[in-house]
Amino acid sequence: MSKKTTVTLAKGDGIGPEITNAVLSILEAAKAPLEFEEIEAGLSLYQKDISTGITDAGWKSLRKNKVFLKGPITTPQGGGMKSLNVAIRTTLGLFANVRPCISYHPFITSKHPKMDLVVIRENEEDLYTGIEHQQTAQVFQCLKLVSIPGSEKIIRYAFDYARNHGRKKVSCFIKDNIMKMTDGMFHRVFDEIGLEYPEIEKDHYIIDIGTARLADTPDRFDIIVTPNLYGDIISDVAAQITGSVGIAGSSNIGESCAMFEAIHGAAPDIAGQGIANPSGLLLAAIQMLVHLNLPGYASTIHNALLATLEEGTHTADIFRENSKVKVSTSEFAEAVIKNIGNKPHHLKVANYPTEQAGFAYKKYSQQPTEKKLIGVDVFFDWNDGSPESLAEKLQALNEDDFQLEMITNRGVQVWPNGFPETFCTDHWRCRFIQADKKDIAHTRIVDLLSRIDDLNLDFIKIENLYTFNGKAGFSSSKN
Ligand code: NAD
Repeated sequence: MSKKTTVTLAKGDGIGPEITNAVLSILEAAKAPLEFEEIEAGLSLYQKDISTGITDAGWKSLRKNKVFLKGPITTPQGGGMKSLNVAIRTTLGLFANVRPCISYHPFITSKHPKMDLVVIRENEEDLYTGIEHQQTAQVFQCLKLVSIPGSEKIIRYAFDYARNHGRKKVSCFIKDNIMKMTDGMFHRVFDEIGLEYPEIEKDHYIIDIGTARLADTPDRFDIIVTPNLYGDIISDVAAQITGSVGIAGSSNIGESCAMFEAIHGAAPDIAGQGIANPSGLLLAAIQMLVHLNLPGYASTIHNALLATLEEGTHTADIFRENSKVKVSTSEFAEAVIKNIGNKPHHLKVANYPTEQAGFAYKKYSQQPTEKKLIGVDVFFDWNDGSPESLAEKLQALNEDDFQLEMITNRGVQVWPNGFPETFCTDHWRCRFIQADKKDIAHTRIVDLLSRIDDLNLDFIKIENLYTFNGKAGFSSSKN
């Protein structure tokens, strides 16, 4: 008998315990060589004012076992509670969120019978860093941070995944017509790394039209790689149009740890009724078995699930015209258990290879970069008049070689040459720049801020303006 692998387990909130118990019963019936170390996580801890939703003992178990099977967790809205899902993904370096979205038509009715795609979502960066501030009475900010190493890692993972899984095409979804620096960099890295995979077709879509095409003709896509927020949204769209958000599982992969979960949430609207579909979490558990190099168990359980879906034994969320028996969560698990050893007759039989091809981690190598400080954007909370009057005050601080260049309000240039039609809030960005774009000392900025303070103006933050190898590292004045 093979040695059992210990997996950290959290049953989660809402429908979490119901679907997790169903999945555990199937794993046990299939004799998967696993043992579980259960930790407390989520709502019960948030209610005890533990804002992270996890205890030190929980972290210890995760770091020891390195593999986590997790039911959905409720993130309380507002009130300073942190999303445990995001904290685990980022703290444990789980950079790749892999979300296969497959249609099981005609057994689960879907408008897209041929759909079979994988969303590979960047998991550590973007707007999920949780760095948010209220800066003025009117304006709130959330920082979108995207790094070259983070982008390289996820994009290379997507191409390796395509290669290892016999997939033909990788599509990049971004919004670089607007976010030219952050999404522009992601797109550039996609083009560069794509060159290392000549046999794989590549294309890219602006996220809005890409999502529209995904919802309309998903069979045109194979693998989609995309930053965190877009990936979160489009993977729910993709899962839903296969038939139900309840039938997609996901893995969160890092260099040393991994977490497996359904893509859906805690579904409070149906919690406690015993009707939730456990398929999403079961597919996540199957991905976990593959990750643990237990492909035989993964194939057996996957085939039992497919056979159950094929025979029309369905939970309420997928019960449609081709379904035969409507079952509860636990009855669905019993049906899967009865089908252990069976294979689907029509759907593609699962057959995970014994040798899993890995992902080639490449350490990011920093290119030599000449970085020069050439100016500063100073942000103000100001509500005392027109852009011209603010400019007049600030121009008093001009020095021969270091001058006010422009003022914007939420990114729109309002001075010089602003339009009176532009709607302005109390949040202003004022750019001071070195005339010849020469390197300046930080003390010039400290001195400028001190003189601004003398004018009794409320500066709320600064953003230094740098060039990198002679290229501006900041967006230009006009949108
Ligand atoms: P949700 O995914 O929980 O539910 C959306 C809809 O899908 C609901 O109508 C629900 O009944 C249905 N649904 C979801 N899973 C189902 C299943 N297995 N079987 C049948 N129907 C299912 O999304 P939500 O309502 O926006 O979020 C609820 C809570 O879950 C929130 O607190 C949110 O923060 C959390 N959440 C957690 C995760 C996670 O743990 N990874 C992911 C998303 C949302």
